[in-house]
Amino acid sequence: MSKVVVLGTGGTIASRNNPEGHAVASDHVSALLDSVCATAPFEVEIESRDLLMVGSYLLTPADQLGIVRAIQAVFCDPSVSGVVVTHGTDTMEETAYLSDLHHADPRPVIFTGAQNTAGKPSSDGPRNLRDAIAVAADRRSHDLGTTIVFDGLLYAAAATRKRHTTALDAFDNGATGPLGRVDTGVLSLLAKPVRPQSLPVPEELPRVDIVAVYPGADRTLLDAAVDAGSRGIVLEATGIGNANMSFVDAARDCIIAGIPVIVATRVANGDIMPRYGNGGGADLAEVGALPAGLLRPSQARVLLAAALAASSPSEVADIIRTHTHLTVVPYTSVNQTGK
Ligand code: ASP
Repeated sequence: MSKVVVLGTGGTIASRNNPEGHAVASDHVSALLDSVCATAPFEVEIESRDLLMVGSYLLTPADQLGIVRAIQAVFCDPSVSGVVVTHGTDTMEETAYLSDLHHADPRPVIFTGAQNTAGKPSSDGPRNLRDAIAVAADRRSHDLGTTIVFDGLLYAAAATRKRHTTALDAFDNGATGPLGRVDTGVLSLLAKPVRPQSLPVPEELPRVDIVAVYPGADRTLLDAAVDAGSRGIVLEATGIGNANMSFVDAARDCIIAGIPVIVATRVANGDIMPRYGNGGGADLAEVGALPAGLLRPSQARVLLAAALAASSPSEVADIIRTHTHLTVVPYTSVNQTGK
């Protein structure tokens, strides 16, 4: 029988209303599992552990590294088939991606959560958790890295983002689409990601800030981030990756000072291209800013922090380049080549 370990961190899936009527993480992961078992028993052996009990909007990079280390510790047990992490949806894309960057084991890590709080008839948590456990127990999930299972779809962590504040299909991945579907616990795989080499888990993550570009914005907040100790900057640029001359000058100063700058976009989908001058993406590229490719600012920030922690400054650009080329291959061709 497969064995799945479920790690709880809080989030809406574990939340109930407090006396003021505000949703607060409070259910232990064992209670989440009991609510799923109430509908039908699991056909896998399950162990569970509470790591944290917070809304994911409260997580720090140290908390996120702690989750990554806890996942790694579980995989020291060879009898474990896979790990499920229950997590708030607000920053699931960041923690899942950090886990993916550091995940070297072929066995799967699945993040899941809920849009509606626990204990309500409308709660989507039990379904999502049951699906996530089924995927974690499925041998075909090997080599998928870290994924997110939500509302019947399976997504690679890289480039997946929260797309809706309230809808049950809270996530999507405009770069690769879903890797598969999960229907009442049965997985149909469509694709597998081609995964770059994993990064070593660092002691801590350096400070990396996101600075937004908008009409009238200048380098003031970027300079403030550097003054606050940022070791890397993600520009949340407009369109295809544009800013203005104030940001280009600031990016040049940062790069000369050994502070990498990554250009991501505030647009939901599409790539970054060095097409425009006069403060646009071509000028940012010319001073050495790196494109985030298909990663959105939230995950570009995680990647830059992990790259800075894992390497010397000269290797950061290579890591960014490797990890921003996202490729998936159809599941059938993966099978035929036996990979
Ligand atoms: N809305 C969030 C959730 O779905 C709150 C959080 O991220 O903890 O869990």
